[in-house]
Formats: sequence, structure tokens, C-alpha cells
Amino acid sequence: MTSPLSTPGPTLGVVGGGQLGRMLGEAAGPLGIELIVLDPTPDCPASPVVRDQIVGEFDDEDAVRELAERSDFLTFEIELADPDLLERVETETGVPVHPSPDTLRTIQDKLVQKDALVDAGIPVPEYRAVDDAAELRAALDEFGTPAMVKAREGGYDGRGNAPIESPNDAESVLDSVAGPAMVEKFVDFERELSVIGVKGEGEIATFTTGENVHREEILRETIVPARAPEDVLERARSVARDVLELMDGRGVYGIELFETAESEILVNEIAPRPHNSGHWTIEGAVTCQFEQHVRAVTGRPLGSTEQRDPTVMTNILGDVEETQPAELHGLDTVFSTPRAALHWYGKRDVRPLRKMGHITLTDQGVNADGSAEDLDQLLARSRDLRDGVTFDKA
Ligand code: ATP
Ligand code: MG
Repeated sequence: MTSPLSTPGPTLGVVGGGQLGRMLGEAAGPLGIELIVLDPTPDCPASPVVRDQIVGEFDDEDAVRELAERSDFLTFEIELADPDLLERVETETGVPVHPSPDTLRTIQDKLVQKDALVDAGIPVPEYRAVDDAAELRAALDEFGTPAMVKAREGGYDGRGNAPIESPNDAESVLDSVAGPAMVEKFVDFERELSVIGVKGEGEIATFTTGENVHREEILRETIVPARAPEDVLERARSVARDVLELMDGRGVYGIELFETAESEILVNEIAPRPHNSGHWTIEGAVTCQFEQHVRAVTGRPLGSTEQRDPTVMTNILGDVEETQPAELHGLDTVFSTPRAALHWYGKRDVRPLRKMGHITLTDQGVNADGSAEDLDQLLARSRDLRDGVTFDKA
């Protein structure tokens, strides 16, 4: 049973204070739950919407202990959190950490993650560990080229991934990903999909399957529902539920999928936290992924994952050549468009392709001529809105 609410409410400590921490804070407020975040950047994106920020590295033992001592529950919004440290602090302080540090440990290493999925009978692209160029060439003999070489740890937004076109490039490609690596067969996918799932106390829920458009391996748009046949959406949801069953610990999980040309569903990777492809849920679903995460990790019952309206989310990325103070222009159209919502992450500086904010547009139902608006039109209008904003002063 949820304990009675008083003020100040319970405190959720979050390792990481980026945009995910900011949106967690925005969702937690109405529930009477306060956040403290740990982040190395003073005035991190979450800081204006949370009670306090501890400035420190994610693996700073004293800082994580202080976070635990000031919190009733602990979670993380970044995979760079240190699972061993979280496990230790959980044992020492008795403050529960969700998802479990062990799940974080498994997910942090893309090879260990894929092994765990295979052990559970969950479909993934073919892959091999590669410790040197000879092993990579042997794998390419089997898979053919192109293939995708991935750093096992630390990659994000495509960093740490390198497509390989020829066995002759084995040395240089391995050098470019640095550290332990794996290789995957290149999936000639029909679409990229994702399912945002949430695991509560004895309950599991999934949001509507979304379709993700990446360019340069960075998410540009999420379209919900995905423009795929109903049976594919259902299979995606069913694979995602299998993944959720496998995960240990409560919270939101972002499950990235490939839909192959043969309509198979393969798991690309799992994030043990709210996910960029779930930002659409703030306006597009009854209970957003951030509120679900707060509910789950604090042991409250989950809300409804029902979708309200067809929805498109577009990322606002740094459209600059080099780092500069962030100043976003061209917002009038966003503000004057019905059912368009702006989310600004509060980052001081813009860097090339840095995630700076997003725009969500939900379906207006009918076009000016009375016909129904479809997802292609909603996507086109979203892209126009997004393309109308810029950091480029020129
Ligand atoms: P994220 O942006 O989610 O942090 P990441 O850096 O961890 O991602 P992945 O999700 O592994 O990287 O890959 C990024 C993108 O690269 C995928 O969304 C997909 O577009 C492409 N990709 C990755 N693996 C493969 C593959 N085996 N075959 C084809 N494309 C792939
Ligand atoms: Mg990914």
C-alpha cells in the first residue's frame, strides 16, 4: 500500500541529472515526490526542477553515499552509473535501488546483454565477441559485410559503433571503437521500432509500439503507433514483454527493436531507464514514461499506458559546426501550432548533434478540408516545425 502523503514528501535520489532527470523531476512534483540528483555538471539540466543537486561524478563513492543518505529510494537515469557502488550503498544504507544494479551491470556490456537475451530465448541479430582483428575477420567470413562493430561498453548516440565494409578494415575499425568489442551482422531492417515498458511491483505494462527514424545513428523522430502491420506491432510488444520478464528490478525500460524484411522482431538493445523514444508519452499517453518510472521505483501502482492520440516526437539536435552558447531561434510557429509541445532541456552550450530539446505533436484529428490527418502528414508537420528552429545565427 502506498504510504500516506505529507510534506515534504519522500525523496527519490537519481544518479544523473541530464534531460531524463529533468523530465523525471517534472513528473515527480505532482505526485508529491521530491528529487535529488547527482551530476558532475553544476546547474545540470535537471537542477532547476529538483530540490537539490549533489555535484559529483557518477562513481564518486562519497557522493553516491550522500545521495543515499538523503533519499528514500534510489534510481539512475544514465548507464554510466556504477553498479558495484550502487550495490554496496544499497546494502550499507538499506535504501532500495531500482532497476537492480545487477541488471544495470548486464546491460552496460552489450555483449553480456546479448548473451542474457539469447539465454532467455529472445531473438537478437547474430553477433560475436571479437578480441582482435583475426577474430573480426573470421566473424565477417560468416556474416559477410557490411557488419556493425560495437564497443561493448560506454557507447551512446551511435558513438562506439562503426560499420565495417571490408575484412581489410578490421584493424582500423577495431582501433576506432577502442576497448573490448563485438560485431553484429548488419540487419537490413524494414523499420526500427521500440517499446517502452515498465515493471512495477508484480505488474508489467507496455506503451504503444513506436517507430524510430535514425540518421547518422541518432534518433531523429519517433512515430506512434509505428506504421507497421498490426501483427508486427503485436509481436514487438510480445518480445518486449519477454524482455521485461527477464529484467530484475522495477522501473521503465526502453527496448529498441529491428523489424526485419521478413517481419521478424530482433532486439537491438535495452536501456534500463526512460528512453528518448518514449518522450512522446508526455503528451501522447495517459501516464508518461517519467511518471511511470517514478511510480515504479518508489513502489507505487503503475498508471495507464494507454495512448491518447497519434503522436510524433522530433528531436531538436545541435545544428552547429562547433560548440557555442545555446540560443534557439524560430519558436513562434511551435508556440502557435495547436497540439505542439516544446521541451527544452536547459543545456547552456550547443554542440554538433547534441540533444537540446524535443517537439511533440499530437494528431489534430481532421485536416482543414475535413479529411482525417494520417501519420505521414503528422510526421511531415512535425519535421517542418523542427526544421523551423535553429541554433545557427547565420
Ligand atoms: P543509442 O543512440 O540508443 O544510445 P547506441 O549508441 O547504444 O544507441 P545502437 O543502438 O547499438 O547504439 O546503434 C545505434 C543505431 O545504429 C541503431 O539504432 C541502428 O540504426 C544502427 N544499428 C545498430 N546495430 C545495427 C545492426 N546490427 N544492423 C543495422 N543497423 C544497426
Ligand atoms: Mg540504441
